[in-house]
Amino acid sequence: MTKTAMTEPWFITNASLPGRAGRWRIGIAGAHIASVQPQDDAGARDLGPAWDAAGRLVSPGFVDPHLHLDKCLTSQRSPGTASNLDEAIRAVRAIKAGFTVADVAERGRRALRMGLQHGTVSARSNCEVDRSAGFRALEGLQQASREMAAQVDLQLIAFPQEGWFDNPGTLEDGAGEFVAQSLSRGVKVIGGNVNGALWPSKPQDQVDATFALAAAHDCDIDYHLDNADVAHAFTLPCVADKVIAQGWQGRVAVSHIASLAQVSDAQAAQTINRVREADISVCVLPTRIRLTRVMELMEAGVNVACGTDNLRDPFVRFGDADPLKALLLLAQLTFNLKDAGLERLWSCATTNAARMLRLQDYGLAPGCAADLMVIDAHSPAQAILEQSPRLAVFKAGVQVAGPLSLH
Ligand SMILES: [Zn+2]
Repeated sequence: MTKTAMTEPWFITNASLPGRAGRWRIGIAGAHIASVQPQDDAGARDLGPAWDAAGRLVSPGFVDPHLHLDKCLTSQRSPGTASNLDEAIRAVRAIKAGFTVADVAERGRRALRMGLQHGTVSARSNCEVDRSAGFRALEGLQQASREMAAQVDLQLIAFPQEGWFDNPGTLEDGAGEFVAQSLSRGVKVIGGNVNGALWPSKPQDQVDATFALAAAHDCDIDYHLDNADVAHAFTLPCVADKVIAQGWQGRVAVSHIASLAQVSDAQAAQTINRVREADISVCVLPTRIRLTRVMELMEAGVNVACGTDNLRDPFVRFGDADPLKALLLLAQLTFNLKDAGLERLWSCATTNAARMLRLQDYGLAPGCAADLMVIDAHSPAQAILEQSPRLAVFKAGVQVAGPLSLH
């Protein structure tokens, strides 16, 4: 396996690319893509070192936009299985009390390496900061992020899993002040657990508090929002209005928005238009069976991404951090098993997820980072349906995973 980026240009020839017909030749120089050209056998001989993909799919690497690395791989620490959100939050609260920085860092690295084997070279993880975890989970994931920096870019969200406000005697345990403090500890993304069916406080008050914090610190926002299958827990319209009022278009992402599926079609259509206007990214997580109105959001032009979510913890007991599995689940849950639909869903774990994370140099064009994966399939549709092996994964032009050594 190559350990450093080759400064001399090298090429992947005869590649199939997502969303483009024909065969392509990709030139890579150092950490970046130097060229993407239609395959031309006559001119290909003297280019320099080349690997013949023989029609295999070469795609920008997966971007996993929604993880919970702090509590990943802890399901063995919890007796029994949580049957609802409330129970899962309490189970994790007990586990968090035992977190050490080294423990979180070790599990975080392990999960990032799992993702890397599947092609994930950029990711965003929630990290709980609150009375139970203090800042130990944050320090652990920051350590894992530094140690894995050459293989994967990791963004961290300060996540108030325990609720924003302090309401003694209730589940809501005042994590908001921990989120605020974490912004002076290097966190750039403000989280929220905005759920009108869960907390005694008003969801709009948490939205106001997080937007004020975002304005004061020039931060982006990434909420767990409306994660309830009831029409009355519907804060999405307020969030969209707030984004537009504050001029935060393109800087806010929301996950779940399950209650959008419960409101009337007319109310949903009106809200979806407002979400597009606010340029809010929506992250869907098929660890959940009932998703939101995924296809209506996509049809309306909303940026929709897909993440792998929890990984073997009290919330979700299964998983291996493979975005390709998440895409197959998403395809099944949205009835998208034809080629065109699958091709479209591919963007949810690649270009759309990159847009949600505001990655600047992501893509398949000259100048983009050489963050690539070679897949043993000829198209995104085949890759999703057959769960095809990732043969080689590159970060900044350096092979970081995969059984096949390209040069
Ligand atoms: Zn989540």
